Amino acid sequence: MTEDFYKLLGVQKNATQDQIKQAYRELALKYHPDRNKDKSAEDTFKKINEAYAVLGDPEKRKQYDMMGSEAFNRRYTEEDIFRGFNFQDIFKDMGVNVNFGFGDDDIFNPFGSARGRQGDVGQSILYKLSITLQEAAQGVEKEISLKHSVACSRCKGTGGEPDSEKITCPTCEGSGYQRTIRNTILGRIQTMVTCPRCGGRGQQYKRSCRQCNGNGREVKNDRIKVNIPHGVMDNMRLKYEGMGDYGMDSNGDLYIEIEVKEDKTFTRDGDDIYTQISIPFYKAILGAEVDVPTLFGSKKIRIEPGTQPNTRIALKREGIRRMNSDYKGNEIVEIKVHIPEHLSKEESDLILQYKKMKDGDGEAPKRKFF
Ligand SMILES: [Zn+2]
Ligand SMILES: [Zn+2]
Repeated sequence: MTEDFYKLLGVQKNATQDQIKQAYRELALKYHPDRNKDKSAEDTFKKINEAYAVLGDPEKRKQYDMMGSEAFNRRYTEEDIFRGFNFQDIFKDMGVNVNFGFGDDDIFNPFGSARGRQGDVGQSILYKLSITLQEAAQGVEKEISLKHSVACSRCKGTGGEPDSEKITCPTCEGSGYQRTIRNTILGRIQTMVTCPRCGGRGQQYKRSCRQCNGNGREVKNDRIKVNIPHGVMDNMRLKYEGMGDYGMDSNGDLYIEIEVKEDKTFTRDGDDIYTQISIPFYKAILGAEVDVPTLFGSKKIRIEPGTQPNTRIALKREGIRRMNSDYKGNEIVEIKVHIPEHLSKEESDLILQYKKMKDGDGEAPKRKFF
């Protein structure tokens, strides 16, 4: 049942927001039930709306890219997907006036939300964390300060007074759902929504916990440890399942968005790192052993006699350890050759001697030289 939203809209994974919008417009106009009387058009119309609700929103798109379509669909209900999306405006923008039949409800949910998520689920948390290139290279354990919801200490997260008894929810009679019929552009659609009174549990406590007013949670500042795996990239989001806010049925997730700080010495390209060193010209000519910086201390390397400026030397496995792999990238060292700007009399005599040896008596080139 999970479909690739990019394929549905016929765009590339790296399409711009404008390209996505354009592709959606064309498809929406083509499959709009008012215009297309084909029976399968309705279904296609639903799907492209869902695809656009996700890909048209950079934040949701990022989550989708990160989780993949299957995990994304497992995690988010259609209600989540359409939340905050104003299709009425988009259609108006296209010059089509459509009555969706939902008023100005910001939860645009014509397709029901019975599948997927139920009950009381904690919020997911996004945390931004800055790490060094060295930490990204080999992984690191970090302690972070997190303000999050945890289970209420009085009711242990149940939401009921400790001695209160449980009763069947009178609104849904224990089913946890409410059935409603909505009139939509796709016709009359029966939707199942989670019972607002009991949050889908079908039962409730006779008396709510007086510390948390029945929501089962309290806010706490914690310091928690998280493992950052080696090989993480800048802007990557890592998911820590169940480490978000407390929920009676399941916790939300914690997402850590990584910022890899810029490094003074190295630049990164995937698993490889790049740096430059400068050596005096005579070492380039004669060869030498020189120190080069690596991510974890300096290392001696051999410069061969006759090394040309901008020569690149690869240090195997001195780069970044790839995520979920034993592969390690290389360090590429670019050799800059330094030409002295000032010479002492003695040094300059030596160079002149060398010049004479190469040019004979050196009369003609001398004029050019000065
Ligand atoms: Zn409580
Ligand atoms: Zn209920």
